[in-house]
Amino acid sequence: MERMTLKEIAAAIGADGSFEGAVDCVSTDSRALPPGCLFVALEGERFDGHDYITAALRGGAACAVAHERRDYGAGPVMYVKNTQRALMDIARAYRARFDIHCIGVTGSVGKTTTKDMVASVVSAGFQTLKTEGNLNNEIGLPKTLLGLTRGHEVAVVEMGMQGFGEIAALADVARPTLGVITNIGVSHIEQLGSRENIMKAKLELADALPDGAPLFLCGDDDLLKKVSIPRLDVRFYGVENPACALHAADIREADAQTAFTLHYPGGQVGATIPCIGLHNVRNAVAACGVGMALGIPAEKCAAALAAYVPSGMRQRVVHWGSVTVVEDCYNASPDSMRAALTTLSAMRCAGRRIAVLGGMLELGAYSQAAHREVGRAAAGTGVDLLLAYGGDACYYSQGAKEGGVESETFSDKADLLARLRGALGPGDIVWVKGSRGMRMEEVLQGLYKGE
Ligand code: ATP
Ligand code: MG
Repeated sequence: MERMTLKEIAAAIGADGSFEGAVDCVSTDSRALPPGCLFVALEGERFDGHDYITAALRGGAACAVAHERRDYGAGPVMYVKNTQRALMDIARAYRARFDIHCIGVTGSVGKTTTKDMVASVVSAGFQTLKTEGNLNNEIGLPKTLLGLTRGHEVAVVEMGMQGFGEIAALADVARPTLGVITNIGVSHIEQLGSRENIMKAKLELADALPDGAPLFLCGDDDLLKKVSIPRLDVRFYGVENPACALHAADIREADAQTAFTLHYPGGQVGATIPCIGLHNVRNAVAACGVGMALGIPAEKCAAALAAYVPSGMRQRVVHWGSVTVVEDCYNASPDSMRAALTTLSAMRCAGRRIAVLGGMLELGAYSQAAHREVGRAAAGTGVDLLLAYGGDACYYSQGAKEGGVESETFSDKADLLARLRGALGPGDIVWVKGSRGMRMEEVLQGLYKGE
């Protein structure tokens, strides 16, 4: 971060502007405060930053931002209505200093992957700042933008949401100049009521783009493909879909990588990504589209995809003895489950295809039906055995059995592991996936350790 005066910050957050001085850093973590920084006291579920203000000021913070009036002892404190809002406002003012492209990436699934692939491609032509990991909310996004420096030429930010108005708020801070929407799924359908509403909420990103800005929409999505926004330069992307100006064809999966030909207006180029699955090819096509929109030649965009490194626990292919394990424990939703099962069915397999699926969380009233549907999808895509764990996982099994596939549900990972070990044979592929809260990586750890 570059220096901001306290007066500048006060003006941005609507606080008392009488304090002199400046800060080179904004932090919300009192345990790791560089001297001279601004400490913004956020109120979390488990911790309240206000409890740490006194220590922060004593420890060398130049100033603190609070919404609770207490006697904090020494040091300047700026008071606001809401500290989280203040963090957004500081980042908003800071972002406005930089006349650079900002690419906003949203969608129901594939945001982090697409964001990381876009950043890999854009880095081939520009100094790029990107959202680290999954910091895509009203805390992560401002923190990301506060990392901008004069050296940066492009920012790539992931934008998550759970309801209306959230993408609009994030976009108001990030001021995106290009947008990507990966798909419209069913995550957060509880809050929003329908996929149409989910799309409306995602399209708040479009509203924030300046006239004529490129907006990349996945043309393989039944809802997104119908979107028309004459004010913007809407570009559709997809796989095996010539209706999309940008699309991948001739897709060849081999081991842990996938090769394809990228077709774009005016040409085509070969590319390889270090991961599997049509959905990842889709994400890669979007990334190349963004790179080309910024003027990076197609060949360079395609070559840069090789530098993409999948973020933690997302579909890592591991050869474990004579068995192939796909570690996909980061998260799960009905959409990403379907993408995973389709990918599993397309993998060359000398043995059996075994799906070890942890429950999908946060689906509310849709939960049982969604699990049953995934179970049926597993049967329809050639899974030979489905081992289910936790949450509404018994409905996976119900769906799988309806599709004629062997399935068992477990409430204990040790039991599941024992069953899995008994079932494994040479040439098998095991795909392990579940919601974050299911911690399916424990199954992998147990498997590898031989517990
Ligand atoms: P979150 O909501 O947790 O931020 P996300 O939208 O960032 O999720 P990723 O972390 O990129 O999504 O991917 C999550 C999982 O979704 C991946 O492991 C993969 O299984 C699947 N996935 C990735 N891209 C797509 C896509 N374009 N379509 C469907 N599924 C996808
Ligand atoms: Mg993410």
